[in-house]
Amino acid sequence: MFKKARLKLTAWYLLIIMSISITFSLVIARAVSAEVDRFERVQRIRIENRLRDNDNFFSPNTPPPPTQFRIIFENPELLAETKRRVFVMLGLINAGIFLVAGGLGYMLAGRTLRPIQIMMDEQNRFISDASHELRTPLTSLKSAFEVYLRSKDNTLKEAKTLIGESVEEVNKLQLLSDSLLQLAQYQKPNGQMRFENIRLSEVVRDAVRKIKPVAMQKQVALGYGESELRVNGNRFGLTDLLVILLDNAVKYSPSGAKVEVTAKKTDHHVLVSVKDEGIGIAREDMKHIFSRFYRADSARSRKDTGGYGLGLAIAKKIAETHGGTIEVKSTPGKGSEFTVRLPLFSRNSA
Ligand code: ADP
Repeated sequence: MFKKARLKLTAWYLLIIMSISITFSLVIARAVSAEVDRFERVQRIRIENRLRDNDNFFSPNTPPPPTQFRIIFENPELLAETKRRVFVMLGLINAGIFLVAGGLGYMLAGRTLRPIQIMMDEQNRFISDASHELRTPLTSLKSAFEVYLRSKDNTLKEAKTLIGESVEEVNKLQLLSDSLLQLAQYQKPNGQMRFENIRLSEVVRDAVRKIKPVAMQKQVALGYGESELRVNGNRFGLTDLLVILLDNAVKYSPSGAKVEVTAKKTDHHVLVSVKDEGIGIAREDMKHIFSRFYRADSARSRKDTGGYGLGLAIAKKIAETHGGTIEVKSTPGKGSEFTVRLPLFSRNSA
């Protein structure tokens, strides 16, 4: 499909270039032809006048007309030949332009379409990953229902167990669809997000409040300090970002561990860090964890995490939408620290 689009675009480039080139060539050909005709006419009139004015034009005392005029008059096909040569030259120039423009157009069409192709490949990969993730819980639900329907003497207890398991699967599906929606929302162009001057402490407090029940259940202590730092950002977006980081920190920490949120200022940025004492991330996983649907094996093998590998991809998107970045430092077995760098609020950025 990409090849077809590339050829089509090349054809359009060629059509435009060749229309301009052929139009110019026709104008030049007409101008040259008119000029040659005018030259021939003027010279003919001049010589005829001279013949009329001077009967002795060809007398031995009068110099004969210049050689080039004589050649022209003696060989009228020379003018036609000159015109033909100009047409052939213009034709050759156009053929050259056609070849060069075709080659360059093909190259340019490839360059123009490459980002679109990359985007389409990424989108296709995303759709196939999302469908795969959706299919797994749906298949398990379907087979559980089929088995139940096939059995004739089902007890109420069995029915309750089935419903309980189904609700669990439905919850997973809901989590996945919420994450997909969230990702789509933050993939929209920046202009669609309202930015304001916000106090970072308020965002941290909101995020901590949302995660507190899970942290308490797992007996993970959450610590954060107050600060006066301000950023130019979207309150909901930044809260979502911190919720993702805190949720991971709690998810991948053992019971009794501590998770700490800190904020500090550099020259032009605010650095917000979420540090945990959890399982840490293996070196080979570090470069992939921000990719969509990536889960490290250590996370995959843990039943309690229940994630789809979308959280950090969303967090990264939110940081980028704010003109910021997100980085991670981690030591397997000791813990991880995720740092978000956001532009400091300034009057100019408001
Ligand atoms: P998930 O929903 O699976 O947690 P994320 O995109 O949030 O998806 O994270 C991707 C992967 O990065 C996780 O599967 C996990 O392996 C790793 N990870 C993220 N945060 C942490 C953390 N605080 N400690 C250890 N591993 C983490």
